[in-house]
Amino acid sequence: MKNGVMIQYFEWNMPNDGQLWNQLAEDASHLAEQGFTSVWIPPAYKADEQQDEGYATYDLYDFGEFDQKGSIRTKYGTRAELENAVAALHEAGLQVLLDTVLNHKAGGDYAERFEAVEVDPDDRNTEIGTPREIEAMTGYSFEGRGDKYSSYKWHWYDFSGVDYDAVTESNAIFRIIGEGKGWSQGVDTENGNYDYLLANDIDLDRPEVAAELEYWGHWAVNEFGFDGFRMDAVKHMDYNFIRKFIDSVRHTTGRDLYAVGEYWSGDIEALLEFATNTGETLDLFDAPLHYNFHAASTQGNTFDMSTLLHGTLVERKPGLAVTLVENHDSQPGSSLESNVEDWFKPLAYGLILLMKEGYPVVFYGDYYSTGCVASPHRKIIDILIDARRNYAYGDQELYFDHPSCVGLVRKGEEAHPGSGLVLLMSNDCDGTKKMSLGETHAGEIWHEITGCVNHEVTLDEHGSAEFTVPGCNLAVWVMRPSEQ
Ligand code: CA
Repeated sequence: MKNGVMIQYFEWNMPNDGQLWNQLAEDASHLAEQGFTSVWIPPAYKADEQQDEGYATYDLYDFGEFDQKGSIRTKYGTRAELENAVAALHEAGLQVLLDTVLNHKAGGDYAERFEAVEVDPDDRNTEIGTPREIEAMTGYSFEGRGDKYSSYKWHWYDFSGVDYDAVTESNAIFRIIGEGKGWSQGVDTENGNYDYLLANDIDLDRPEVAAELEYWGHWAVNEFGFDGFRMDAVKHMDYNFIRKFIDSVRHTTGRDLYAVGEYWSGDIEALLEFATNTGETLDLFDAPLHYNFHAASTQGNTFDMSTLLHGTLVERKPGLAVTLVENHDSQPGSSLESNVEDWFKPLAYGLILLMKEGYPVVFYGDYYSTGCVASPHRKIIDILIDARRNYAYGDQELYFDHPSCVGLVRKGEEAHPGSGLVLLMSNDCDGTKKMSLGETHAGEIWHEITGCVNHEVTLDEHGSAEFTVPGCNLAVWVMRPSEQ
């Protein structure tokens, strides 16, 4: 969708009150009015305990329908409430993207014994000691659901690794041994082989497992009408499986489903390799851009703003880039903490929402609240989304030509009368920059729309002017309304 905007509709510290689906249903028309076009919802199926965010997945078919793991509802509500929310979002014209966790399962129902070998956590190709029989919770009977929707029951041979042995009561990474088993080869090479992330690691090389998960994807889309997937932890999953899963679900549902993968790495080469290996069948979060935002926000005026886009997906593979400022893993207190400091967030959102490249995501914690504390950024994000919808069109010229003051222009296009904009950002003192919109804009009077600059500028015969930005801030300039 042209100039679409996604919202990640959850953060890490939300209350376990079962109200998120109800809140989302009530919020649907507001989200559409504000300019959002898609909603990324959290893992919506039963986890190992009710308060879990959903990433410790137990049963992919239980969206809050069966009495399992201590309750019927999930942290976010019941299946009926989720269906109601999806219907409300579709009614408002928004797409719904499901957070999809296929790397691992948690909360096994019973213990099983099998052969395994401990491996070095820093190099999972190196064995520690000799293979032995261990015991872990790898049996899944799904007593509450029974055989409804799927009769597949999971066992130790459906997994490639676990993190606990009950025989010796030891916490370690164990690689499960069996015919044809081993770490998947199509994964990230950090720690030797990064197949194993946590809990019971699913053996995606096993044809029965791959077929069951593909069936589930087809079932979930048909059952709920999801418009696509946010694929969790793809860095730890065989890229052949990822590609086949998405292709298969698109084919069996006959729908052009959207997909974005979480390959959380600051290494642009690793992302590009994954993109090639998956035939560019799914977009990727621009984690390197997030890390640049993190660095810029923590280094203050010593960060060279002209390097802000260096080594990012928007620079190297813009067609696949899903751009974000913050998410549930980077926010303070979470597993991959690398948060972007508050003073820089308006600048970062200005860039992802107004530049030509990328499909931007707004984080719930930045738009609404974190742990019930209201975000200070909602007003500026609303202004920027509105600017994206009205002005962010046409050719783009980058002005990443100064260590502290950088920006870009969008030259506008005929299909959107009055469109075109200037974005300027400074991480130091007040800045000015001569920028050109092109001769078609000659003589126009422009003003600033975030409220940080009061004067107007008149574009010269070439469509150029000196635009200004206050220190440590962003400025967004557009044509004055009376001229439109
Ligand atoms: Ca894995």
